[in-house]
Amino acid sequence: MIGLTVLGSTGSIGISTLDVVARHPDRYRVVALTANQDVDGLFEQCRRFEPDYAVMANADAAQSLEQRLQATGLTINVLTGVEGLEHVAAMSEADYVMAAIVGAAGLLPTLAAAKAGKRVLLANKEALVVAGELFMRAVDQGGAEILPIDSEHNAVFQCMPGDYRRGLDQVGVSQILLTASGGPFRTLSLDQLQDVTPDQACAHPNWDMGRKISVDSATMMNKGLEVIEACWLFHTTPDKVQVVLHPQSVIHSMVAYTDGSVLAQLGNPDMRTPIAHALAWPERIASGVAPLDLFATARLDFEPPNMERFACLRLAYQAIEAGGTCPAILNAANEIAVAAFLDGKLGFTGIPEVIESVLDLMPGDGNSDLNTLLAVDHEARIRTEQLIRDRV
Ligand code: NAD
Ligand code: MG
Repeated sequence: MIGLTVLGSTGSIGISTLDVVARHPDRYRVVALTANQDVDGLFEQCRRFEPDYAVMANADAAQSLEQRLQATGLTINVLTGVEGLEHVAAMSEADYVMAAIVGAAGLLPTLAAAKAGKRVLLANKEALVVAGELFMRAVDQGGAEILPIDSEHNAVFQCMPGDYRRGLDQVGVSQILLTASGGPFRTLSLDQLQDVTPDQACAHPNWDMGRKISVDSATMMNKGLEVIEACWLFHTTPDKVQVVLHPQSVIHSMVAYTDGSVLAQLGNPDMRTPIAHALAWPERIASGVAPLDLFATARLDFEPPNMERFACLRLAYQAIEAGGTCPAILNAANEIAVAAFLDGKLGFTGIPEVIESVLDLMPGDGNSDLNTLLAVDHEARIRTEQLIRDRV
């Protein structure tokens, strides 16, 4: 049996992960589940999967979870805070760790899993954006295995030759083609974007996801974060990563080779496919996803992205080109700006404006040790909050 820790089990990816795992009770045993504050959600998951550990990031929430578990007669160790998350990410009972916390909050536990040499199923792209170099070094030093969950990166992984770590030039790969649906506002004019609401932004045409990543998809910051993620995962540079708008979300990404071949991975837009792939790799297991009906799909369209309309994508390319702490600044500013938009405190087009101002205020440097990155993340959040307050 493979022991699995699910970090962020009550979220969209966490729930899809448990859906796949429940189809294979002979193969996987859930050893730890974690959530931020959702006591009801984690309690129900604990009843169903009976893990050894449950972690609530919030201490009060941990206490009420513990009381409810005791009342039900379940003996599950309840831990709290970042230390609790790091413990269940690194402990010997966990062979695989699904990293599905949203945002930079996932960095330390995901890093702990990498250092402990786990198979890391990486959904938490922000961890790589904030600390890509450090994270990939921890993967190497810890002997960890990293399998991408983000559908694009999982698709690229499936289309790459097995020895891609030798370098993309060495293995004949000329380009990574990351597909993007363009989100719910792909066809709106810049003017129309001024007044869009959080609920409209979260109504993605093809994917059902958490609210933060849904807004990121609408601004296309999600694709920008994914360009950065691809550079670290596949040891390449941003000039080798081309974003391709593909509204149907059927091709999840492609790899172009020097001989002119282009390999693509296709499927219905359902995260259970990349999750099942990463759980079973190199084998294949059932995921519950319906087979792709190409006749119903009928057509596949492609367009180049418009960097003016999607300023967040341009800012992300600039941040990874600048390197050092710049991607961490970009990510922190984005997390705060998106939260403010979801709270009704910032307009949709204010998101890239605020991020650009923070990047101008904080030039970033090449020093990317963990303490520097955490300090920069903290400072960028404070500056972003200040800028948002000053706008009203
Ligand atoms: P979500 O908001 O639905 O779930 C987030 C999970 O993280 C929840 O369990 C929540 O309790 C936990 N969490 C939130 N803040 C926390 C904190 N401070 N400390 C500890 N735990 C915390 O998010 P999601 O859509 O499942 O996305 C999770 C990650 O996967 C993100 O990094 C996202 O970019 C990535 N991802 C998601 C999808 C998708 O389809 N949802 C696709 C690709 C990548
Ligand atoms: Mg994605």
